[in-house]
Amino acid sequence: MIRGITPEGIIKYYNTTEERFWDKVDIKGEDECWPWKAKTRSGYGRYFYPDRYHEESAHRLSWIFTNGDIPNGLWVLHSCDNRLCVNPNHLHLGDHSDNMGECIERNQHNTPYKLSLETRRIIRDTYNKGGVTQIELAKQYGVTKITISRCIHGRKDNLRKDYV
Ligand SMILES: [Zn+2]
Repeated sequence: MIRGITPEGIIKYYNTTEERFWDKVDIKGEDECWPWKAKTRSGYGRYFYPDRYHEESAHRLSWIFTNGDIPNGLWVLHSCDNRLCVNPNHLHLGDHSDNMGECIERNQHNTPYKLSLETRRIIRDTYNKGGVTQIELAKQYGVTKITISRCIHGRKDNLRKDYV
């Protein structure tokens, strides 16, 4: 049993770390943001492992509990731009340049895109090579099929409407 304190301040016992983790999340609809209710740092949710004596980002743990270990060198990124959100459907893997690219793009245009230019190019290339459906790509990048379709076929001004 794991002893924990709920965000409401009540002592509670859990069978698993995972169970204790999800109790700190405001779980909503599949497509909605799921805000972290407990400790934060720099705007991101933080989770303290009592059994491992270290802290981890809540959104990274959400990804791990849902998908398994994060491959080396990759980051867990938000597609919804909400740092507190831990909905696995709003999280995707990217490398450091994706992370930087998304930030730079947002600053330059002052218009949040769901996907960076580079990511959109990779999606287009991957799809054009064949063997993968738009739905599979949408799942992989944590966005809707419409967004993927716009990446592949859309004109630039269509993409501009695709705000977060
Ligand atoms: Zn979200």
